[in-house]
Amino acid sequence: PLVLGIETSCDETGVGIVRGTTLLADAVASSVDTHARFGGVVPEIASRAHLESMVPTIERALKDAGISARDLDGIAVTAGPGLAGALLVGVSAAKAYAYALNKPLYGVNHLASHICVDQLEHGPLPEPTMALLVSGGHSSLLLAPDITNDVRPLGATIDDAAGEAFDKIARVLDLGFPGGPVIDRLAREGDPKAIAFPRGLSGSRDPAYDFSFSGLKTSVARWIEAKRAAGEDVPVRDVAASFQEAVVDVLTRKAVRACRDEGVDHLMIGGGVAANSRLRALAQERCDKAGIRLRVPRPGLCTDNGAMVAALGAEMVARNRPVSDLGLSADSSLPVTETHVPGAHSHGHD
Ligand code: ATP
Ligand code: MG
Ligand code: FE
Repeated sequence: PLVLGIETSCDETGVGIVRGTTLLADAVASSVDTHARFGGVVPEIASRAHLESMVPTIERALKDAGISARDLDGIAVTAGPGLAGALLVGVSAAKAYAYALNKPLYGVNHLASHICVDQLEHGPLPEPTMALLVSGGHSSLLLAPDITNDVRPLGATIDDAAGEAFDKIARVLDLGFPGGPVIDRLAREGDPKAIAFPRGLSGSRDPAYDFSFSGLKTSVARWIEAKRAAGEDVPVRDVAASFQEAVVDVLTRKAVRACRDEGVDHLMIGGGVAANSRLRALAQERCDKAGIRLRVPRPGLCTDNGAMVAALGAEMVARNRPVSDLGLSADSSLPVTETHVPGAHSHGHD
């Protein structure tokens, strides 16, 4: 199926077009530079930027794909989770196009899309799929027997998300926003063993699949404060490398353990933090050792984009999932278990 996907859950206006598991276009307009001077995403600015970018980005995607909107078999849109006002822009645009073109509409889950996008890179996902989802707002281990319909959380962070920890530490180090890419780059020139930062929830009596990054964040911040108070230079590269190592060490260890425990022979890693070069390298090393096949999309498909929404939408079409009606609304706290939002009134929470 030929599907267009719209993503506006945060600060990226993304429009992707896929045919089945083949990527035809991936147009992204980001307002990240506007947010950078505020040190984080400002919801009102994000919504307005989505409004301005929406139609041009849709037109660019159609042009890049070399198709006419009339040829589409469906229109998919991120219905949640994310910023309410930002989501609303994408959902409204998707409904308008679906109505005007008389095409089926699919309101899909942003988190399931972060996983499904790997089909564009590595072909159909195995069933069940074991996925480590690591992004700005989420860090979870998920077992998905069917990415369109059945996603089961095995564990999740009990406090900060991994991406949030990267962003907060970058702020303490005055590295700007978003912090993940900068820390990734600086860490390459640092020593990951320079400072022994704590590995959250890694004791033998701790929950096997849950994560915690707030203790690590506090520990790194205190370490930096102590250096500054003593009038010493902060070894930024070593701090970045040691902090990053503490995050990816726990993520990869728990993900590999989940694969072993569940008898799953592959691991998918998705979400913005999956773009991290050290996470990718360590995951590869540990998966190789454990005989697990690793699937991670290229970095551009890990961070928010429209192709991931189109990928999940195409799967919904292929599997004849119920369509959403034009009463579809955005749900800023859509749980990961709700892979899509069929109808307008059938999801009862909130
Ligand atoms: P969610 O998907 O949970 O709704 P989001 O959509 O805001 O959150 P993503 O776009 O998936 O988040 O990911 C953004 C996060 O990824 C940011 O916290 C950013 O710092 C982090 N990130 C991006 N690139 C890297 C990298 N190379 N290393 C580490 N973190 C990274
Ligand atoms: Mg972003
Ligand atoms: Fe995301």
